[in-house]
Amino acid sequence: MEVDIRGILPQTLIDYPGNVSTIIFTGGCNMRCPFCHNFELATEPEKFEKIPEQQVLDYLDERKKFIDGVVITGGEPTLWMPALKGFIERIRERTGLLVKLDSNGLNPNALKELFPVIDYIAMDVKAPEKHYSEATGVPIDMSKIRESIRLIMGSGVEYEFRTTVVPAFIPQDEFADVVSLVEGAEKYCLQQYNAVKKEGPLSKAYEPKVLRQFEEIAKKKVKKTCIRGI
Ligand code: SF4
Repeated sequence: MEVDIRGILPQTLIDYPGNVSTIIFTGGCNMRCPFCHNFELATEPEKFEKIPEQQVLDYLDERKKFIDGVVITGGEPTLWMPALKGFIERIRERTGLLVKLDSNGLNPNALKELFPVIDYIAMDVKAPEKHYSEATGVPIDMSKIRESIRLIMGSGVEYEFRTTVVPAFIPQDEFADVVSLVEGAEKYCLQQYNAVKKEGPLSKAYEPKVLRQFEEIAKKKVKKTCIRGI
């Protein structure tokens, strides 16, 4: 089995903190977040041309002079285990680039397998526990999310947890419940929501000042915070 690669973005300055990187997009996802910005990639990856692993490796080898790292995102890359681990190992051997993984945290066992071959992991924390299934569009076993958080915090790999702040799933008075999922973490980032709908609950984002208030709440529970997109 090969990793199902459906897109490449040659260069980003913002997706891998402190590093210039190339993004690799894998197809498919085990969540169906109604606010997803890559919904087609997550649900109908066959609409995008599949890029063979070898082609991606050759491309990264050519680009390695201009970038520091590779971001593997989706969709949900861990769907492509165990092939994903071998692919990352080949990236490292061939190019020496740093590797960052983005994950929704639904597969803690896959994360455990991947820690030895990645340099950075970003896990989404979608909502307070009581809204997690609504926010992800599928029934969620929270023990898996909690397990991934626990494993990441103990992994020795540089990490961040991050939340796209969607008001429909994160009422203002429940934000503290989101942060309590990652209490004690090294780094937690709030990301402003870019509305995917023109009407209804998913058309609304919070004012920047609300995100700043949320950050103050987060600062009491985690070591480092950031806000993106305001
Ligand atoms: S986990 Fe990410 S890629 Fe998957 S549906 Fe949600 S936002 Fe989209």
